[in-house]
Amino acid sequence: MSELVLIVEDERDLLTALDYNLRREGYRTRTASNGREALALATGPETPDLVLLDLMLPDLPGTEVCRQLRAHEATRRTPIVMLTAKTDEVDRVVGFEVGADDYVAKPFSVRELMLRVRAVLRRARPDAPSEPAGFVDHGRLRLDVPAHRVFVGGEEVILTALEFRLLRTLLERRGRVQSRETLLIDVWGMSPEVTTRTVDTHVKRLRQKLGAAGAYVETLRGVGYRMVADVPEERPAQRRRS
Ligand code: CA
Repeated sequence: MSELVLIVEDERDLLTALDYNLRREGYRTRTASNGREALALATGPETPDLVLLDLMLPDLPGTEVCRQLRAHEATRRTPIVMLTAKTDEVDRVVGFEVGADDYVAKPFSVRELMLRVRAVLRRARPDAPSEPAGFVDHGRLRLDVPAHRVFVGGEEVILTALEFRLLRTLLERRGRVQSRETLLIDVWGMSPEVTTRTVDTHVKRLRQKLGAAGAYVETLRGVGYRMVADVPEERPAQRRRS
């Protein structure tokens, strides 16, 4: 049976558009236009495989809905993607405080959202197929993991061991925001003399070395970094606010 997506959005037009597009992509859907309805549906007989959750809802803030989903046994591990026009809230939303898995900033293109949904669901699947032995491919980028070699459009790029680890970590968690603190712990092993500024310096250098593929590493100001897909430019379909 196809995966079930719960869409929580109080804007009728947007809810309808999301519902239509997700169904067209082959997902099953449930819809809710407020927080309480969303909580009732999510914790009901059929647990959704993913929740698309608007941050600004008429009854409860999306952050509160998210916290309650995290606190409930059935939905503790359900992937949650926040839809938000408030980019200054992003660090709270994807951070420990609220616990969403990812976010999409409004206005977004439907195509971008569909890619994000697919990526989040794939990650959440316990039997997710791994990359072909030893290689990680991402657009023009190819990592030969066992050999510690990186190629951009077939050309080898020489990275330091640390830069390689940084790139590999971002790639393995593509689509997900990585805070500087997370990167410090996982890439640097959190040596005490290292500051978050060090992360910025290394990301900058890595980006320069990757040339055209450097654009895959997106900066989220004040938050961290994220590996994004090689998506052709497309104008946002929705020009709406929460
Ligand atoms: Ca809203």
